[in-house]
Amino acid sequence: MCLRRLLQFLPLQRTWRAAFRKHGQCGHQGAWRWTHSEGGPYRAVIFDMGGVLIPSPGRVAAEWEVQNHIPSGTILKAFISGGENGPWMTFMRGELTEEDFLQEFGRLCSEIAETSVPVDSFFSLLTSEQVAKQLPVMTEAITQIRAKGLKTAVLSNNFYLSNGKSFLPLDRKQFDVVDDPEVAVKELEALLGFTLRKAPPNTRPMSKTMEIPVESLEKHLKALLGTRTTGPLELRQFDHGQSNPTYFIRLAEQQLVLRKKPPGTLLPSAHAVEREFRVMKALANAGIPVPKVLDLCEDSSVIGTPFYLMEYCPGLIYKDPSLPGLEPSQRQAIYTAMNRVLCRIHSVDFKAAGLGDYGKHGDYIPRQVQTWIKQYRASETSTLPAMERLIEWLPLHLPRQQKVTVVHGDFRLDNLVFHPEKPEVLAVLDWELSTLGDPLVDVAFSCLAHHLPPSFPILRGLSGCDLTQLGIPTAEEYFRMYCLHMGIPPTDNWNFYMAFSFFRVAAILQGVYKRSLTGQASSTTAEQSGKLAEFTSELAWEFAIKEGFWVFKEMPATKPLTRPYHTWAGPRSLLSTPGVRSYTSHPESSSARASKGALVVSPEGLSPSVRALYEQLKQFMERHVYPAEPALRSHQASAERWTPAPLLEELKEKAKAEGLWNLFLPLETDPERKYGAGLTNVEYAHLCELMGMSLYAPEIFNCSAPDTGNMELLVRYGTEEQKARWLPPLLEGRARSCFAMTEPQVASSDATNIESSIREEDGFYVINGRKWWISGILDPRCQLCVFMGKTDPHAPRHQQQSVLLVPMDTPGIKVIRPLTVYGLDDAPGGHGEVLFEQVRVPKESMVLGPGRGFEIAQGRLGPGRIHHCMRLIGHSERALALMKARVKSRVAFGKPLVEQGTILADIAQSRVEIEQARLLVLKAAHLMDVAGNKAAALEIAMIKMVAPSMAYQVIDRAIQAFGAAGLSNDYPLAQFFAWARALRFADGPDEVHRAVVAKMELKHRI
Ligand SMILES: Cc1cc2nc3c(=O)[nH]c(=O)nc-3n(C[C@H](O)[C@H](O)[C@H](O)COP(=O)(O)OP(=O)(O)OC[C@H]3O[C@@H](n4cnc5c(N)ncnc54)[C@H](O)[C@@H]3O)c2cc1C
Repeated sequence: MCLRRLLQFLPLQRTWRAAFRKHGQCGHQGAWRWTHSEGGPYRAVIFDMGGVLIPSPGRVAAEWEVQNHIPSGTILKAFISGGENGPWMTFMRGELTEEDFLQEFGRLCSEIAETSVPVDSFFSLLTSEQVAKQLPVMTEAITQIRAKGLKTAVLSNNFYLSNGKSFLPLDRKQFDVVDDPEVAVKELEALLGFTLRKAPPNTRPMSKTMEIPVESLEKHLKALLGTRTTGPLELRQFDHGQSNPTYFIRLAEQQLVLRKKPPGTLLPSAHAVEREFRVMKALANAGIPVPKVLDLCEDSSVIGTPFYLMEYCPGLIYKDPSLPGLEPSQRQAIYTAMNRVLCRIHSVDFKAAGLGDYGKHGDYIPRQVQTWIKQYRASETSTLPAMERLIEWLPLHLPRQQKVTVVHGDFRLDNLVFHPEKPEVLAVLDWELSTLGDPLVDVAFSCLAHHLPPSFPILRGLSGCDLTQLGIPTAEEYFRMYCLHMGIPPTDNWNFYMAFSFFRVAAILQGVYKRSLTGQASSTTAEQSGKLAEFTSELAWEFAIKEGFWVFKEMPATKPLTRPYHTWAGPRSLLSTPGVRSYTSHPESSSARASKGALVVSPEGLSPSVRALYEQLKQFMERHVYPAEPALRSHQASAERWTPAPLLEELKEKAKAEGLWNLFLPLETDPERKYGAGLTNVEYAHLCELMGMSLYAPEIFNCSAPDTGNMELLVRYGTEEQKARWLPPLLEGRARSCFAMTEPQVASSDATNIESSIREEDGFYVINGRKWWISGILDPRCQLCVFMGKTDPHAPRHQQQSVLLVPMDTPGIKVIRPLTVYGLDDAPGGHGEVLFEQVRVPKESMVLGPGRGFEIAQGRLGPGRIHHCMRLIGHSERALALMKARVKSRVAFGKPLVEQGTILADIAQSRVEIEQARLLVLKAAHLMDVAGNKAAALEIAMIKMVAPSMAYQVIDRAIQAFGAAGLSNDYPLAQFFAWARALRFADGPDEVHRAVVAKMELKHRI
């Protein structure tokens, strides 16, 4: 007799007991209790064997040890020694002969006991009839139990004889089930009518609304699977599968998954289970890891809707993208495996795989955008403002080139089944949204979690997690990994893909929400989906903002790009009337032809409404601003200069009353025109140039730096609370603000050098550091400091900085001194050197989140930076106009200066340079409008290189022609000159812009 399975007592039985207790919520050892509607509470009693029906081998061993003077516990220690690979367990699995076992086991026992142990004698006892015999008391108990009509069962493996037949030292007639545990459980399940096994992970009992007719399904399965199907059908619902309800089926040996369409009226073309079935079949043949599909049933009479069946693929599904419990290297490996499998999907030759007609071959993104807009509209329950903006934005910003591959359409970590022991994807699930299309959509979709909070209910996120520490690649690293593996260059419109992906999520969530209202949605979280749709739509909009805006779809080819004009100084006094550009030779009809998308090179080309605004602004400048300049200059030279000039405040009120207010916020940042005039960058360029004619004008129209950049920052990146607190005073011109980045001790042209620290402490951020050249900080109206500092010196270089909104009255801010530009202190705003010592602000003061300062600083200086260039054109025009008037009236050496050849040459040179620079500024603005800020990066860098130097030269020539008067404060020239020079640093040093231009030139134009 082989007693290999006799004493599988300890581990196995404990496992069973634990499973039963957990499952049945009952603590009885050896018997499981439940309530039945008919009769008493019990229907059956299940017995353990060793220690219950027959004596415990542990007790046999203990007695034997005493009798044989073997140290107590030796046998027990030897039983468990080596775990699964110890001699006992190896023998139990039949992997050792009895002889080998006894040799090995004897050696082990002798080692433990430190004396020779005669294991043969113990083994004979254990297998003797006396021991392997049912205890009489149990025999009696079983008889009584059965007499009451209850079933009895024993849980044990078979005893196998050497001839292969099973043997059990029990009277089989006493038990309804006596067999191998697997078979025993199966038979018991048949007897009881429900499962005794642990449910597969991520499943739950079917919800009432999602029940499917079991009998009909069972019939179908039995017909499909044939004789292999005995026993009860276990049916559970997977937690995921919001869209197509998904079920786990256990029938006899078979573990299957059923996916079906949801019940009720469905949105057109959604929930196509037939397509899922088709693509999985084809991809399996192409070597992609997908569950094996078995059957597609399109007959709705079986369970109410079409469905398909596939094999259940056991393995690990990581629901939490932070992969808790894993090592950083394991996390890295999991994300790499995910990335690789996506590359494999995208590399499938879809025509060869028989999927050539699985989707259209072009225009995937435009079609997707329209599809999701339609789906969203079909399930809309209320207006979501961000969705409305995206519906306008997305079609205008479509990628120009797209590859075509199989796309999964919902590729994310929790749609992958991983091998339990190694970083290998065993199956890619949920192909509902698959088609042929642009593969980058899948890559962006893989990165959704990076931008969602960990508490996001449907897809847990990673935002705020320290990815470096976790070992998880950032979204950018993940994307680069993909590009590297696919051998493609990284795309520069990644944010479009992110915006589109979140838009799609928002549309899906809105669909789930609508279905929850009509009882069709399968998830318990479906009702929350309305709020989540709103949240994700706002996230999508954040990416749209980052991507930038092309206000017009196409760059018009028909608009004339020439403008005949001459420039002249008006007849009035030089002090009050600057040079004004006039375009009299330009036909009036041109404004009628003005197109919103045109590169408008002269104000006449502006649309009638903007042209009217331009004229109104010009008149305001002539009537109010130029005449006020002498008084304003005097104020700046007086002892009261550190308080705002009352005249300037008066002019602000006038400008506001005339609607000449906040003209700066570009349409791209403020598409709903909530805050500004909704001008395009080109339109504003013309108006901004006019404002640049006077150093005082920008503030009068509430269009001055650094407030404009800060307001734009708040509109783009601020939370609703931050906007509510800071935007109204700034937009109304009641408050002013500053931007604190530059530090004396580091080269601040490289913003990654910034050292001021931002530390988290008791729910606050504590700031320490020294800043300088902080424009506007000395103004008594300055209420807000937009502060940039380092939150994490160990993060990747561009993720160390963060931006805080710091109220200027926070204790610990000390302005040490005003700095001067060529002796000018630019009162009342000034440029301050400031100490921040233990400055505490609440955590809500953070903009966008820790580590995102660099991104904000870049975004802040988009349109804001080219405003300086636009104004510099204005300074230059004004300087040239003043120069022309001066040289006509000033006589030296017997003739007006204007008759000197060098003066004529200077005038000509200045005119040419202004024109060149203006055209470049307008081109940059135009590109920002039609192709987005990023596409205009080269032009932006070029004008920042060109405009200050050009203005510096033009103003210098004017000063030269003026003689010493040009250096005085009687004219704006000296201040213009100082400012043009300062802007060769303040807007980033020339060299940095040159480096950008050269880098791009070398990269793209070889
Ligand atoms: C009038 C004025 C107003 C300002 N207002 C503000 C403000 O409101 N807030 C604020 O935070 N800052 C402000 N600044 C500071 C301004 O942003 C910095 O001066 C600028 O970023 C340069 O930094 P830095 O002075 O530390 O020069 P550094 O970084 O020390 O650079 C010094 C020089 O090194 C050279 N250099 C730098 N990089 C390169 C390169 N890549 N290649 C070759 N040469 C290079 C350049 O010649 C550069 O001028 C203002 C400056 C001025 C003049």
